[in-house]
Amino acid sequence: MISFSSLSLREELTRAVADLGFETPTPIQQKVIPHLLAHPSDIIGLAQTGTGKTAAFGLPLLHHVDVAQKHVQALVLSPTRELCMQIQEEFKKYGTHMRGLKTTAVYGGVPIGGQIREVKQNPQIIVATPGRLIDLLERGALSLEQVQYVVLDEADEMLNMGFREDIDFILKNAVAREHTWLFSATMSNEVRGIAKRFMKEWKEFSVATANTTNENIDHQYYITQKHLRFEALQRLLDFTPGIYGIIFTRTKQDCQDIAERLMKQGYHVSPLHGDMDQKMRSKVMERFKNKSLQAIVATDVAARGIDVNDISHVINYELPDDPEVYTHRSGRTARAGKSGICMSIISPKEIYNIRQIERLVKQRFVRSDIPDGAEVVRKRLFYYLEQIENAKPKADFAHVYENSIHERFEAMDKDELIKKLIWIQLKDTIDNYQDAQDLNAGYDSPAKQSRTSSSSDGRSVRLFMNIGTKDGIESPDKLVKFVAEATDLEKDMIFRVTVRELSSFFNVRSDAAEFIKETLSAKKFKGRKIRIEEAEQSTGGRGRDDQKPRQSRERGEFKPRFGKSDSQKFNKRH
Ligand code: AMP
Repeated sequence: MISFSSLSLREELTRAVADLGFETPTPIQQKVIPHLLAHPSDIIGLAQTGTGKTAAFGLPLLHHVDVAQKHVQALVLSPTRELCMQIQEEFKKYGTHMRGLKTTAVYGGVPIGGQIREVKQNPQIIVATPGRLIDLLERGALSLEQVQYVVLDEADEMLNMGFREDIDFILKNAVAREHTWLFSATMSNEVRGIAKRFMKEWKEFSVATANTTNENIDHQYYITQKHLRFEALQRLLDFTPGIYGIIFTRTKQDCQDIAERLMKQGYHVSPLHGDMDQKMRSKVMERFKNKSLQAIVATDVAARGIDVNDISHVINYELPDDPEVYTHRSGRTARAGKSGICMSIISPKEIYNIRQIERLVKQRFVRSDIPDGAEVVRKRLFYYLEQIENAKPKADFAHVYENSIHERFEAMDKDELIKKLIWIQLKDTIDNYQDAQDLNAGYDSPAKQSRTSSSSDGRSVRLFMNIGTKDGIESPDKLVKFVAEATDLEKDMIFRVTVRELSSFFNVRSDAAEFIKETLSAKKFKGRKIRIEEAEQSTGGRGRDDQKPRQSRERGEFKPRFGKSDSQKFNKRH
């Protein structure tokens, strides 16, 4: 078996990898690293997140950069700010023993000033999202003239997001580029197109998709109406005494709100999200690890660093947009050969998302009923009884108090005593659940829905719109609000919203799709003409990542940031 020490990586890197506890290279690393060390030529790597692809290109990249040279030698382009930060963090870990190495990440959504100062310090490696990189180039803050290595990470995703022109532009400006390493989860004509335009003879490496099936995970889902989500969560927590889990939310705000509401009601939980500073996050993790907390409420990004082996439950307060994110979440439980449960609270409409995820994880999910009040009380009663049965009071405790306990309860009947003890323990639960409402919601079967609808797929239509976070639509809620107001439709007609930097996707009921397209295309958003069209879902891909507008993309069509003339001006300037 190949080991990292046999790969002829520079010693600092082999040491860092050992520090990280990586024992053997993953399949993509085994194929790509030796090749890139020997011939740092052009390559295409077909590998998904989770396969170790970042190290597959990161280690050779760090191996080749010259730390003595203080200028930008390598550029990694990534589709999203989160991925950008993740790559930067990985690079920091790999480069920890390389004195003089500087890596800088630049991405949108934060003030540009700090990033300008950072790039002026001449890092050897820049990790960037295309939009922000071009901003920096235009401002003359950065030059790509001496860049020899360019990595395109998640190239398919960058193309889906409408970055084709930006990528072309950046690659054209990296005039000294000798090696281009393209990584993508899928191989489409568009991805091949980039290779043909910008790469010489390339070699392809691929690995089977990440193994997303873990048979030790029991996947369950609970259907309720949207406004009852919190009550459903609380009920599931009460029904799962002894839980040691993670509750996932989509947003930092939800994370904070839900954790606060739970804490107010006496649950031992804490939020964990990106707005908390590192010190607070470490404190939360410490309390979670020593089991002072029964659960943490976390966002996906914040949960990335959690390394705990005996998590019993993962609860999706809301499903993620991307089915792959579901597998990251559920994979937090059932580690190291143990079993675990992943519960998802969904609205009736989200049953289709469950089907999509089932296909990805290749497991059937079990629809379970949200328990009623009596079931919760019964469950907690039996849990308490079991605790009494298994309790092992310390011998000296029993000895010291034996006499006083005996004296006090001598006259009381044993059954009476047990009843009282149980009442004290369960009083609150019994009170809370006296008239508990039924939280379960029904849903229309797919067959029924397709009978009542007239659309292409019988249910809903996914639309693409050329407006994203860059334009001020910072969240799915904002998008829903904007579309609902612009079309005068109910908010719940718009769902499964994904907002990207430069574009967004959302589903609408199929019978409303034409109306929404017509109405919105006649409108502007902050002065920009709205382009809206049906998104295409290709088969066999990666869920949200295979969405793209149905029509072919002409050059410049989805390029909202600046026109071709600007690019040409820029080309001349540099
Ligand atoms: P990636 O596919 O690059 O997103 O990597 C997924 C995770 O696997 C990251 O947390 C890496 O730190 C980790 N990783 C990468 N290579 C290895 C390896 N050879 N052994 C163990 N873990 C690894």
